Amino acid sequence: MTGAAGAQGATPRRYRTVFLGPPGAGKGTQAKSLAAADGALHISTGDMLREHVAKGTELGARAREYMEGGHLVPDALIIAMVEERLSRPDAQSSWILDGFPRTLPQAEALARSLAAHAQPLTHVLYFNVGRGVLLQRLTGRWSCGSCGAIYNVQFRPPAVAGVCDVCAGALRQRDDDRPEAVGVRLEEYERLTGPLLGYYQGLGLLREVDAEADPDVVEDQVREVLSSASN
Ligand code: AMP
Repeated sequence: MTGAAGAQGATPRRYRTVFLGPPGAGKGTQAKSLAAADGALHISTGDMLREHVAKGTELGARAREYMEGGHLVPDALIIAMVEERLSRPDAQSSWILDGFPRTLPQAEALARSLAAHAQPLTHVLYFNVGRGVLLQRLTGRWSCGSCGAIYNVQFRPPAVAGVCDVCAGALRQRDDDRPEAVGVRLEEYERLTGPLLGYYQGLGLLREVDAEADPDVVEDQVREVLSSASN
C-alpha cells in the first residue's frame, strides 16, 4: 500500500538513502513506490545501465557483457555514472540509491563525493532475505518490456502467460535472471557487496528490514526506518 506523501506522517521530508541487499530482495520495487509517493528521486544503477545498453551508448557497450554474465560492471564506470547523476539539479533533495554502492571502493567514492557537497547519507537500509527465497524470486521474475511492470511466474503470475496485465506488452526474462547468471550474481554479492554491511554498521548508518515479508509490510518497515533519527 503506497500512501500519498506524508500520509502516514512518518517519513522525514528529506532523505539521502542507500537500499542495500542482494539481487531479488525487492529494493527496486520499494524504491519505486516510495519515490513516487514522496517525490524523491529513484536512482537505480541497473536501470540506468540497461537504458545505456538499449540506446547503444559507449557505456552500454562496455557494460553489456558484464551484465549478461551476472558480473558487476567495473567500479570506475559505475562511479562516474552515479556521480554525474547526483550532480544534476533534481538530485539536490531526497533520493534513493538502489543497487549502488555494491563494492567498498564504490561506497568510499560515494562518501567522498557526498562529503564534498556536505550532503552525507541519512540512512542505509539493508534488505535481508535468505538465499532460498532469492533464488525463487530471481529465476521466476519476468517483466514487461514496455512499462516495466514486474511479475513472478510462481508468486505473482500475469492473468495471461507472457502478457502484461497493465499494458498488454510482452513479458520477458532478464538475461541475468537466467539460472546460470543468478548463481554468479549471488556469489559476487556475498563476496563484494557483503563487506558493505560492516562498513555502514561501523558508520552507524545501517538499519535492517525483513525483506521476506509481504511488500506492504516491507514498505511499512522502510517508512518507519526513514522516519527514525537521521544524520
Ligand atoms: P540490478 O538491476 O541492480 O540487479 O543490476 C543489473 C546489473 O547491472 C548487475 O548485475 C551489474 O552487472 C550491473 N550493475 C548495477 N549496479 C551496479 C553497481 N553498483 N556496480 C557494478 N555493477 C552494477
